[in-house]
Amino acid sequence: MRIETLCTGDELLTGVTVDTNSAYFAERVFAAGAMLDRNEVIGDRMDEIVEALRSLYSRADFAVVSGGLGPTSDDLTAEAAARAADVPLELHEPTLNRIRERFRSRNIEFTPNNERQARIPRGAEVVDNPWGTAPMFVVTSGRARVCFLPGVPREFHKLCDSEVMPRLRAALEKGGTPPRAVRTLKCFGIAESHIDHQVRDIPQRFPGVRVAFRTTLPENHLKLWAEAGTREAAEALLAQAETAARGLLGSRVFGADEDTFSAVVGGLLRKQGATVALAESCTGGLAAAILSETPGASDYLVGSLVTYTPAAKTKLAGIAPDLLGREGPVSETVTIELARAARGMGATLGLAVTGYAGPEAGTLPVGTVFVALDAADRGMNRRLQLPGDREQVRRLAAYAVLDQTRTYYRGAA
Ligand code: ATP
Ligand code: MG
Repeated sequence: MRIETLCTGDELLTGVTVDTNSAYFAERVFAAGAMLDRNEVIGDRMDEIVEALRSLYSRADFAVVSGGLGPTSDDLTAEAAARAADVPLELHEPTLNRIRERFRSRNIEFTPNNERQARIPRGAEVVDNPWGTAPMFVVTSGRARVCFLPGVPREFHKLCDSEVMPRLRAALEKGGTPPRAVRTLKCFGIAESHIDHQVRDIPQRFPGVRVAFRTTLPENHLKLWAEAGTREAAEALLAQAETAARGLLGSRVFGADEDTFSAVVGGLLRKQGATVALAESCTGGLAAAILSETPGASDYLVGSLVTYTPAAKTKLAGIAPDLLGREGPVSETVTIELARAARGMGATLGLAVTGYAGPEAGTLPVGTVFVALDAADRGMNRRLQLPGDREQVRRLAAYAVLDQTRTYYRGAA
């Protein structure tokens, strides 16, 4: 089955906007066990769009077109969709009523150009868009089914998940694409080449399973991809390979598929009924920022002291100046004391990180990072030598300080 995307918009060709919509869809297509065959980007020109759509209708089995459904004169896609399919545009009354109602409820004057968004190619399936004004519509032309979506990323994402993907999955199943099951194992604290080395035997041990790797710093992802005669067999094969891979990678795997590091650490704290407070030096608050990416983080994140200078370490965390002078602000002892001070904010766990992110070395080499955890029953600390530039060291250090919670509860379990 041939799957394509077509993204329209002059802003995509001038570099003003980066096409992220096709990437969003491509990722989901891949997770569904297929892959995009082509992604095309074109400007807001009627003849270009019509020509691109004619080819798309004749070539693709399933496609997504992004952008140009709005009310302005540069929004040409609906008309091009109709022309390429040799059908007229027709006013879709329910959509027009919905748009009028939307304007009324927001107290915005309905100008005539807004009617454009209710003009749909004849015969197309109209799909309500609760996140915006222009509806999605689906044109069937020849063997192609083409979903037209607004370009606004928020609307595109919502419609992609709720309307496009179910249609694509159904088409994949009907189209006889060999059933596939895919799982992404997300790892922290292990290099990509080491993951590769650990799981090198998996494809031989489980015929039909393929592996792929991806790095989104500081995470390394292992993708397992299983193909078999039926969906159930593919799922079963994947489950076996996943168990084997998890056995080989152990606690380096922090989550799978849609899991985020932030939500995994937060979920663990929530499950333990624990709270956490931080004292951050070289990460400048990044660890707290990562943890607070997950909604509801206030249930377990107490706060973070950003104690960047030695003076701040004394003033905010009560670290004695003579200790700072003797040991240095980036040191095991100071980091342990900072973790204690953090816990003193009233948390179950205190976490601290100090280090040299570079590019200038301190009294220790660039990439030297200390992390510590303080709890009522015990403390933990580690000295790390982290690779990369300033940005990399800071991200790795932020993950490392948070990852101590996973280590702590693994030990306690
Ligand atoms: P609107 O009703 O807002 O006009 P539309 O369907 O006409 O919606 P566009 O005008 O093409 O969509 O784009 C709307 C917004 O979405 C613009 O800010 C544009 O930069 C952005 N956008 C368009 N296409 C993409 C894309 N492929 N990836 C990311 N952003 C995009
Ligand atoms: Mg527009």
